[in-house]
Amino acid sequence: AKEEGGPSFRFFTRGMNEAAQQRLSIELSLRKALERGEIFVHYQPKVDLSCGEITGFEALARWHHPELGLIPPDTFIPLAEKNGLIVRIGEWVLRAACAQARTWIDEGFSDLCMAINLSSHQFTSGNLTSMVKEVLDETELPPSCLEFEITEGILMERTEKTMRILSELRDMGVRISIDDFGTGYSSLGYLKRFPVNTVKIDRSFVREIDSPHEDAAIIKAIIAVARNLNLQVVAEGVESHRQTEFLLAHGCNEAQGFLFGKPVHPDEASLMLRAGRWR
Ligand code: C2E
Ligand code: CA
Ligand code: CA
Ligand code: CA
Repeated sequence: AKEEGGPSFRFFTRGMNEAAQQRLSIELSLRKALERGEIFVHYQPKVDLSCGEITGFEALARWHHPELGLIPPDTFIPLAEKNGLIVRIGEWVLRAACAQARTWIDEGFSDLCMAINLSSHQFTSGNLTSMVKEVLDETELPPSCLEFEITEGILMERTEKTMRILSELRDMGVRISIDDFGTGYSSLGYLKRFPVNTVKIDRSFVREIDSPHEDAAIIKAIIAVARNLNLQVVAEGVESHRQTEFLLAHGCNEAQGFLFGKPVHPDEASLMLRAGRWR
């Protein structure tokens, strides 16, 4: 039995070492990625469900690794959160996205809203409020054109510092959205107590609309409660017309998903904007 177990055990540890080594090497190159200009931003449109117009974009970070090619954010963002690099990456994304929003506003798309993801680390290290203020000043961007997407987890932690920063951002006129809404441990009631403008319904609920044993009760409830609290409701991961019709019928305001457009290079996003409404 020992003989049999030996080689596979060795194989197993060798596999683990390779994975660990690759992670370490990715982590080392991530430190250099910003300086080397390997991090960039793609933009995914959000549309107004009642008229089909593009209301804004979500900025999504991308990393082009010189040897490994495109590394998805689901891989490098968690790494960056672990080693603290997310603070610098986040600032970089914010600056790039605000500069892009400035360009689009100058082209006449003045009511665009630019959405940016924030990690909890960005609330605890550095001075987020003054950094955001600085970027808004530099780009002369109206604060209402900027929306931060934060997860329920950040709200649930309810640390004093996070709450203070959220209030400061809201006081500046910046918008706050709850990302992946419904996946956390939220009681819908807490929405009333936080300075939030928007809830973004998680893709998993949107997917339910199309499933054969449709269980759309949750999504209906989320939309109803959010609307009662005067919150904007955005659905993410919309891929079908059926989902679109359902969301529209139940009072969802905006949608984002592959049906309307994938995250794309800013030049391509510009073309979408100029082409006008989606339908
Ligand atoms: P997220 O914030 O929930 O972003 C939405 C993700 O869903 C994006 O993946 C987007 O490409 C994908 N998506 C959009 N529409 C559809 C659809 O119709 N169908 C399907 N299957 N997927 C859709 P992406 O760009 O790979 O980003 C993954 C996650 O990485 C984001 O999830 C976000 O949590 C994180 N992330 C990306 N950029 C940043 C950033 O700059 N800062 C932080 N803190 N996190 C980021
Ligand atoms: Ca998001
Ligand atoms: Ca999301
Ligand atoms: Ca999600």
